[in-house]
Amino acid sequence: MTVNAIQKEKCTGCGACVCVCVHRAISMEPDQEGFLYPVIDREKCTDCGLCLLKCPLSKAKPENRTEPEAFACYSRDRETQLNSTSGGVFTELAIAVLSDGGAAVGARYTENFAVEHAAIFSEEDIPLLRQSKYLQSDTQRIYAQVQEWLKKGLPVLFCGTPCQNAALRCFLRKEYDNLIRCDFICRGVASPKVFRKYLDMLESDYRAPVQSVQFKNKDAGWHRFGTRITFQNGGVYYGGRFQDPFMTGYLERNLFLRPSCHQCPFHCLQEGDITLGDFWGIEKIHPELDTDKGTSAVILNTSKGRAAFERIKPRLVWANCGTDEIRTENLCMERAAKAGRNRRKFFEEIDRRPFYELAEQYASPSKFHGFHPRTFLSGIKKILRGAQE
Ligand SMILES: Cc1cc2nc3c(=O)[nH]c(=O)nc-3n(C[C@H](O)[C@H](O)[C@H](O)COP(=O)(O)OP(=O)(O)OC[C@H]3O[C@@H](n4cnc5c(N)ncnc54)[C@H](O)[C@@H]3O)c2cc1C
Repeated sequence: MTVNAIQKEKCTGCGACVCVCVHRAISMEPDQEGFLYPVIDREKCTDCGLCLLKCPLSKAKPENRTEPEAFACYSRDRETQLNSTSGGVFTELAIAVLSDGGAAVGARYTENFAVEHAAIFSEEDIPLLRQSKYLQSDTQRIYAQVQEWLKKGLPVLFCGTPCQNAALRCFLRKEYDNLIRCDFICRGVASPKVFRKYLDMLESDYRAPVQSVQFKNKDAGWHRFGTRITFQNGGVYYGGRFQDPFMTGYLERNLFLRPSCHQCPFHCLQEGDITLGDFWGIEKIHPELDTDKGTSAVILNTSKGRAAFERIKPRLVWANCGTDEIRTENLCMERAAKAGRNRRKFFEEIDRRPFYELAEQYASPSKFHGFHPRTFLSGIKKILRGAQE
């Protein structure tokens, strides 16, 4: 089978098939849009069907779910709250498992600002995993490693998208008492290729390589949804939700989400023992919990999830709430994000046009008042051209 033979709307790129193939006949390769898909080496494949059997899409819902219990909360540790995407619950869960001598598994940036899943074993490495990276993470090697640690009795916290959590469940085939699976409310993952093009544009403008990327930077407030990028020469870029072209393309225009995210079957199943999210609308429900520095929504789906949350509760400022209160302003809990109407055109042109031009054309220029000097200049040029015609 080649990449083209895979039904792209169905494949989440979780990589479980790579892990289960005993013949090492499957590898993941990026397609033209930059998303990873399995490619089968026909020479090695014996048609045993194990990959299809273990594909999370073919498996039923997770078991052992209890009536969900929901909370609004944030970490009492100011540094944790400020440096996390929402209220820092992931960090608190990680601290607990690491203090038991276990492993925390999540997504980290590679040197080139792609994203991959990795494990940490000490508290000082938590910043590597902390914070949302809104692009697809490469998970192909992690499931087998997690299984190895679990079999040795190591406590493991696994955090990832709902589909990655489903992939781990299907790969393991059995419940482990020493595993806590944590997913998050997920609107979908963006193309790593598009993200790289966006960073290339900024690196050329700032004349230096990127040093750090932080989505939902809180300097100007969590509700601003700012992206802060620093450069090796000391340069700093900041773009608000409606100014930054990557965030607008990702959040507002749905230009470059993975095709399977538009029909995600996992988005409201609460795959994990614990489901995390941003508590949008918290200012209306529990205004006392809105410090504009990030409030988490937490949904506990299993007794294991409840026990893990009970343990970290003293380290949180928290209040009970209903899951419907979390849903009110988190629309992707209700339905998967619809593909933007310019998605196809965007990807048709991505290899021949610079990112800023595509963003200007397809990511709603009306909202980009002066987001980028090049957009501004090309806007002026267009007006002048129009005046001459
Ligand atoms: C792609 C994506 C889409 C999301 N969409 C929504 C949404 O629509 N609504 C909502 O309420 N919340 C969404 N979230 C979740 C939210 O942004 C926070 O991650 C969550 O609330 C946890 O915040 P925290 O402060 O507890 O922890 P943080 O410190 O922010 O921890 C984030 C955790 O997620 C893991 N992670 C980060 N990036 C990725 C990735 N690319 N793939 C897999 N795992 C990753 C990290 O390793 C870490 O374990 C999304 C997150 C991601 C990564």
